[in-house]
Amino acid sequence: MAHVVVLGAGPGGAIMACDSKDQLRFEDKVTVVTKGPQYHFLPSNPWIAAGWRARKDMTVDLAPTMAKKGIDFISVAAEKLLPEENRIALVDWPSVAYDYLFIASGPELAFDEVQGLGPDGGHTQSICHVDQGETG
Ligand SMILES: Cc1cc2nc3c(=O)[nH]c(=O)nc-3n(C[C@H](O)[C@H](O)[C@H](O)COP(=O)(O)OP(=O)(O)OC[C@H]3O[C@@H](n4cnc5c(N)ncnc54)[C@H](O)[C@@H]3O)c2cc1C
Repeated sequence: MAHVVVLGAGPGGAIMACDSKDQLRFEDKVTVVTKGPQYHFLPSNPWIAAGWRARKDMTVDLAPTMAKKGIDFISVAAEKLLPEENRIALVDWPSVAYDYLFIASGPELAFDEVQGLGPDGGHTQSICHVDQGETG
């Protein structure tokens, strides 16, 4: 049996987990580790900001969706990769060992790299996260 762990459940991770589950052997196990319980369809964020859609229209609860596919789901943030041990350390949660790891944790927003940029202390808005779409 191989244990495949997918870190992150945006479009990259969620699709990777579902596709690999379909293609692996029956006895292989797939686990998704991601820091939120929901999938957000980011291209809809502008619609949230404009008031044309509600958050519920572009979010999916990952736990039941992954359960239906036979994929284990851990909704906890990863703290650190331990590649020499084939293991991910999680925040306030036991670490997870893997045979194969897919990293799909997305980009990190870096507004602080440009003075005055960004919604927190800067002078610009952002709709890169659904929370920002709701408040932007
Ligand atoms: C407003 C907007 C409109 C867009 N429109 C389009 C479009 O029309 N067409 C298009 O192709 N693309 C579009 N994009 C880009 C597209 O949304 C991104 O390319 C895509 O979301 C990237 O997917 P990803 O899975 O790589 O990363 P993300 O979507 O960023 O997902 C990363 C996942 O990893 C999780 N994660 C991060 N760090 C950790 C950690 N430490 N521990 C555990 N989990 C973690 C996050 O919670 C998240 O679930 C748009 C983006 C935005 C913001």
